[in-house]
Amino acid sequence: MESWDVSKSVNLYGISNWGEGYFDVNSDGDVIVRPNRNGQSINFKDIVRSLVQRGIQVPVLIRFDGIIRDRVNRFQQAFRSAFQENEYNGTYRAVFPVKVNQQRHVVDTIRLAGRDFGLGLEVGSKPELIAVLAMHDTPGALLLCNGYKDREYIELALVGRKFGRRSIIIIEQLSEIDQVLEIANQLGIEPELGLRMKPAAKGSGHWESSGGDKAKFGLTAPELVWAIDHLKKNGKDHWVKLLHFHVGSQITSITAIKKVLREATRMFTELWKLCPSLSIFDVGGGLAVDYDGSRTNFASSMDYTPEEYARDVVYSISQACQSAGIVQMPDIVTECGRALVAHHAVLVMQVVDVAPTVEVVTELAQPPSDNELLHEFQELHDKLSIKNCQESLHDAIGLREESMQRFINGDLSLREKAYADTSFWHIMAKVKRISTGMKYLPEDVERLGEELRDTYFCNFSVFQSLPDFWAVDQLFPIMPLQRLREEPNRRATLADMTCDSDGKIDRFIDLKDVNSFLNLHSVKSTEPYYLGCFLVGAYQEILGDLHNLFGDTNAVHVDLDDTGAVQFTHVVEGDTVREALQYVQFEQPDLVERLRISVEKALREGSLTPEEAAKIQKRYREALEGYTYLCVDP
Ligand SMILES: *Cc1c(COP(=O)(O)O)cnc(C)c1O
Repeated sequence: MESWDVSKSVNLYGISNWGEGYFDVNSDGDVIVRPNRNGQSINFKDIVRSLVQRGIQVPVLIRFDGIIRDRVNRFQQAFRSAFQENEYNGTYRAVFPVKVNQQRHVVDTIRLAGRDFGLGLEVGSKPELIAVLAMHDTPGALLLCNGYKDREYIELALVGRKFGRRSIIIIEQLSEIDQVLEIANQLGIEPELGLRMKPAAKGSGHWESSGGDKAKFGLTAPELVWAIDHLKKNGKDHWVKLLHFHVGSQITSITAIKKVLREATRMFTELWKLCPSLSIFDVGGGLAVDYDGSRTNFASSMDYTPEEYARDVVYSISQACQSAGIVQMPDIVTECGRALVAHHAVLVMQVVDVAPTVEVVTELAQPPSDNELLHEFQELHDKLSIKNCQESLHDAIGLREESMQRFINGDLSLREKAYADTSFWHIMAKVKRISTGMKYLPEDVERLGEELRDTYFCNFSVFQSLPDFWAVDQLFPIMPLQRLREEPNRRATLADMTCDSDGKIDRFIDLKDVNSFLNLHSVKSTEPYYLGCFLVGAYQEILGDLHNLFGDTNAVHVDLDDTGAVQFTHVVEGDTVREALQYVQFEQPDLVERLRISVEKALREGSLTPEEAAKIQKRYREALEGYTYLCVDP
């Protein structure tokens, strides 16, 4: 057999396709991260080892602040270049929509990374507004207010203007206009408004249906005209500063983006004629992430780059303005969320158990009885050859059904059934082995591969940490973090720690297809086997849920200091069992008291000694303060 090396692992897992220069494998076969895409690198194994030494257990979400800063700069640079190419005389203003990742330290890192060029924030609800109102002190930076709004929301947004927040209320429903008119008048505050249009053109990918005529948000052409007329009637049309649209997330195709841009830029110039105070063109979010690295318009990929996106946005608005005779080009706002934060976070989890698939054997064991059915299994196995491969497969399936029926009828004992089942899988394994030498693989034989995979049990919850995998078939790159000099010779699917049959990962990225297995190494008992789940920094944490009461994982911010040394800038401890239980109203004092009463009773009845009683109660209290995930020896 050919020898394996690191470059083969790099190819197999596609790390340079989706890694964007941030992730790589070193010559020792360990996965490393280069947060600044330069020579400085950090080894995941070292990070995890240091964390475990500090008592921070896996699963752990590792955040690289450097990656966030690099993304912010990359988009800034992309638009700067596009402006130069098009001799564009407006300004670019990046805005981060906080719903994509509201974690305090993430928002702070983004805010600070963009402070010099006035990076703004977007909120879509009252709680988000309340957080951002206090924190967002970058002078002159935008605070875009989207979503459904009540009186309190509008008041808060307006009041913010008195202490230096440049809030722009984006009108998504016509009813909001009268509310804003009334509240602004009461407070004596001059608002700035945006109008959200509802483009007829749709995005592409998973969220295609969030755009188009049926979209949940935005104003139609008649509504936009009414809005401007209504404001004019009240003498307030000069409040209108911004036109906004957003056709959904993870837009996989540049063709779809160009189409929406044609409609929206035209709308901008037409609205500008009615309302020349309009000076900001806000293209919303939707810039995709290439999760599988295939550079296609597949749902987990994208067929363009951020640079191409920037060029298309700038080109189309500049063309539209030129045709309409608009000399001062509008400022361009993007609300890219996913594309800004997806790369920065990596979930590290540990394999805690493996259920291996059956291996090929040369001979089946002797059947436990003279039952002729069992001998048929044996014969089938022994006579299996490349010529009768498919037929044997069908025969084996028939025999297995027969054995099941006989078991139910009481004609086969448990020991005999066990022999039949084991034999069946040995036959399957042998069919698969033999079929690798076949030129044309019948479909049912090919599908066998999917059945014959190991199950690797991993200490995490799909529902908490990768909800989009479960909810919308989103794929994420997953790979071992070590031993990449060795050939990963097992084919595996992953199972999580929840007792839900959906709590598994059985679809994996592939350049041309979706893979039904992940190549992994055999786990050694002497060292932990860690898997990294990459590009999970957008949406996953807040959409994650408490299925089976597995709580938030530990999260750690990792950064490089001026000397290039690794530092943990923030450690955000995951939920304790007590916190997870609190969400469902099991309060610690009550639980402890109820346990005490039962222990007291057992004491009286003599089934516990006082020492045992004390120990049990101590252990229970400790468990309440512990991590919700399995405690495994590192
Ligand atoms: C969700 C959302 C975004 C972010 O979208 P991404 O696909 O993450 O870039 C931007 N703007 C608005 C109005 C949103 O609702």
